[in-house]
Amino acid sequence: MSATADVFVPGGHGRGFAADEGDLVTIVDVEGQQALDFVAVAKADLSEGLSGVETRRKLRSLYIKTGDKLYTSAGRPMFEVVEDSIGVHDYTVPACDPSRYAVDFGCPGHRNCLDNMFEALQPYGLPADLDVPEPFNFFQNSPVVEGGRTGVVDPPSRPGDKLVLRALMDVYCAVSSCPQDIIPGNGLVPSALEVHVRPAEGFQCRSS
Ligand SMILES: [Zn+2]
Repeated sequence: MSATADVFVPGGHGRGFAADEGDLVTIVDVEGQQALDFVAVAKADLSEGLSGVETRRKLRSLYIKTGDKLYTSAGRPMFEVVEDSIGVHDYTVPACDPSRYAVDFGCPGHRNCLDNMFEALQPYGLPADLDVPEPFNFFQNSPVVEGGRTGVVDPPSRPGDKLVLRALMDVYCAVSSCPQDIIPGNGLVPSALEVHVRPAEGFQCRSS
């Protein structure tokens, strides 16, 4: 099986999609400087999610690069990074959630990545009590600075920059255009993303 999908993600909102083993998933930062949260679960076992913890253990790195595989909570490879026009991503910072805005900024009810991704996964039959996995924050700029401290600043991504992943198993995914508009992280203006799912190119049949 393979999947084909074109998904438009409005700024500050989330969307879900499916991909099958071998498919290419292209995520485009349409206007630039937009961080996104990305989660995925295995179709065969919805409790097996893409895992930053497992991936850090396998890669022994705080950063991902082209050629790296990204692993599940069961230690299985779920994606491979096949193209990356940015090279700046995070997989240490948790998703922004209702408490982040209500407690830290005094803005209860603000849109947030956790709710965006939870809602985006619901059509795929995930139980309402299933925790959304910790995200990979593609295009998010979280440099490690002096003293080992971390921060989040605006991404260097430009309009049309993209990341391409190859699915290594059948998956359900959710992305959230991070709605953070109070502090830097998205240029203070959440903007749109596009996701394209395509079957990997195979061998070309000849007519003779
Ligand atoms: Zn967010």
